[in-house]
Amino acid sequence: MKTEHDVPKPLTFALLRLLADGEFHSGEEMAHRFELSRASVHNALQDVARYGITLHSVRGRGYQLAQPLYWLDATQIAQHTGEARDSLHLEILDHVPSSNKLLLQRATEGAASGTVLAVEWQSAGRGRLGRTWHSGLGDALTFSLLWRFECGLAALSGLSLGVGVALVRALHEQGVQNIGLKWPNDVLVNEGKLAGILLEAQGDMLGPSAVVIGIGLNLSLPSGARSHIEQAVSDLEECGVPLQQRNRVMGLLLKHLVAVMREFAANGFAPLRAEWENDHLFHHRQAKLLLPDGTKIEGKVHGVTAEGALRLETAHGMQVFNAGEVSLRRA
Ligand code: ATP
Repeated sequence: MKTEHDVPKPLTFALLRLLADGEFHSGEEMAHRFELSRASVHNALQDVARYGITLHSVRGRGYQLAQPLYWLDATQIAQHTGEARDSLHLEILDHVPSSNKLLLQRATEGAASGTVLAVEWQSAGRGRLGRTWHSGLGDALTFSLLWRFECGLAALSGLSLGVGVALVRALHEQGVQNIGLKWPNDVLVNEGKLAGILLEAQGDMLGPSAVVIGIGLNLSLPSGARSHIEQAVSDLEECGVPLQQRNRVMGLLLKHLVAVMREFAANGFAPLRAEWENDHLFHHRQAKLLLPDGTKIEGKVHGVTAEGALRLETAHGMQVFNAGEVSLRRA
């Protein structure tokens, strides 16, 4: 359970901003800069490990981050969003437990379509079915985008696959290769999970509706975090994209997400289907589905329907599965 202790102190973030250059900064220098005692500086930095940060402390020299931090920057992000910029309202936050949860609340209060909450450190990131999403400060992109649609909830079923298409397009533009999708909405590189997508919708079956799209994408996943994840993972660093590109990647993701939102609003998932299937790692392959009651269904994947449901040829003939509570695995 999260406690108040998990809420980072603004001072800690202010000090980390100073240390972001990766150089040594003495306790004295920082104390002087912020008009504090050295003890306060020490206290504010003593447990940064819980944000996934490694901080060296060397007597006589001061503090130094094991690797520089690249903070999110709205101006740099906007340089890469192209004309999608006009549809976006970006807010960067140091910490929230879950950007999706906060944006869902803002949506209820009338937040505009195109609102983005990008979070430096998310302490309670969520995946599908209540699973946990792991990320540390500065080593990932964790953000949520709100998009409003005229159509009702029923027409949105293929949207989470569409989001996968947007991510693949953005990663291609960033020069990443060997990208694959896993139904319904995992993005993998070299068969390790690079990004997770969580869609949460509000509205009426007949419309209008609002969707909060949460994305977690690994830039440089530390080994400590990897050891908590029970599946193969990947990050952009191992694809040759350095952490310095953090804001560029964020901008490209937003650019392609907005493009796909517009395409989806106009024509639904059907025109995106071939592109999605082309990148599906299980296309025309044997796979098994795990149902919520523990049942496993094996079969051969025959793409997806125009609504994004999985088509599986099983011993009982062709069956169609909606994403809901179902998980797809290698057979
Ligand atoms: P499904 O196939 O049902 O979508 P999934 O296990 O990939 O299954 P998600 O809800 O998409 O489920 O994502 C949550 C899961 O992702 C966690 O249970 C964990 O296995 C994995 N995970 C958590 N953090 C990370 C991360 N930073 N990078 C890669 N994978 C992660």
